[in-house]
Amino acid sequence: MLLHAEQALLPEGWARDVRVRIVAGRIAEVTPGAAPEGERVACLLPALANLHSHAFQRAMAGMTEARTAGQDSFWTWRALMYRFLDRLTPPDVEAIAAQVMVEMAEAGYAAVTEFHYLHHAPDGSAYADRAEMAGRIAAASAETGLGLTLLPVIYERGGCDGRALTGGQRRFHNDPGGFGAMLEATSRHLKALPPDAALGVAPHSLRAVTPETLARVAQMTLGPIHMHLAEQQAEVDEVLAATGARPVSWALDQLPLGPRWCLVHCTQMTPRETACLAATGAVAGLCPITEANLGDGIFDATGWRAGGGAWGVGSDSNILISLAEELRSLEYSQRLRDRARAVLAAADRSVGRTLWDEAARGGARAAGRASGAIAAGLWADLLAPDMAAPVLAGRRGDEILDGFVFCGTAGLVDRLWSAGRPLVRAGRHVARDVIAQRFRATLAGLRDRT
Ligand SMILES: [Zn+2]
Repeated sequence: MLLHAEQALLPEGWARDVRVRIVAGRIAEVTPGAAPEGERVACLLPALANLHSHAFQRAMAGMTEARTAGQDSFWTWRALMYRFLDRLTPPDVEAIAAQVMVEMAEAGYAAVTEFHYLHHAPDGSAYADRAEMAGRIAAASAETGLGLTLLPVIYERGGCDGRALTGGQRRFHNDPGGFGAMLEATSRHLKALPPDAALGVAPHSLRAVTPETLARVAQMTLGPIHMHLAEQQAEVDEVLAATGARPVSWALDQLPLGPRWCLVHCTQMTPRETACLAATGAVAGLCPITEANLGDGIFDATGWRAGGGAWGVGSDSNILISLAEELRSLEYSQRLRDRARAVLAAADRSVGRTLWDEAARGGARAAGRASGAIAAGLWADLLAPDMAAPVLAGRRGDEILDGFVFCGTAGLVDRLWSAGRPLVRAGRHVARDVIAQRFRATLAGLRDRT
């Protein structure tokens, strides 16, 4: 396949009249200053990998925005989430995940890293295929074409004190042996997907796994390792009481952190923890919309970047699936805190450009996916913004990214390819209608079953 872009964002900067040749899903050749040949687009960007999602939570988006007794917090939200997931069947999860993936593609993501912890039947027993639910996520990826990095989650206890999982949490439980079997079964499901699909592991959090399990599970993969870390103050207090160290300090001392690791949230860090963690090469998995929705706090992005830290964005609870909104929420959180503008802009490029470059690189690293730039050898994860949209009219270079990030919505994506697969055309995912129809029927069924 040949694409010709009037302007394109390459690793060395903006270039004009760029021809991109794609072979077997990968970018084979990038030629600036080429004569028009193949399909033409006005502008071409690297599409991003979403580094953190719990797909099923999309089905309860916006259903926990009323006050309950006392002060509403992350923890009251979590209790409602558990009641909801008590009812989800494997077909429900597949239908919800497909809808989520459609929306992600239309928002500008070419791939998703699914932090997958809903494994078992409602009574906590394993399905006949231990990776039944993982298979449903893989099936949604196959149907939608969105690139998938699947991270089965190990979740073995209810807190640092070792209490058992109860209620809805029983669906998450695995001991290390059961987890190893599930990982193996999951890898069989992934073999049915195109070769850009990847597998990693996710120890849920320091609350939910023992240090011994964490060490053992990290040995089970050569792929990415993701873990929630330091999202909430109550989590910091619990880990401090149990181990004598704050979560990030504990992780720095005890874990072989490096570029294969992605630590999700990292909201509650001291300046020293921020500098030391950034220096490990681990990716900070930021989910600014969800973190705002859940009242987590503000990530220290200026300190993280000053330490050379890698980062990317994820949609986490999927309360809203908007790549532009994730990026601008991150920037705005820093502006509101510092009472300043253009806080995250690098010296030689605009804020939108800086955010795009860094989130593309960090997202790809966290996903274990050879992507994140328009360069030979990488998967052809590409996005053509809708340059006919009034908000992008007449823009060139960095102005396009500033318009995309700060002035628009998901509707600014015209076309999107994931590893060369054409997923979005004229702003719409190619299977949008049939998948939305099934999602509506699924939600109606869930309501009937309550
Ligand atoms: Zn999460």
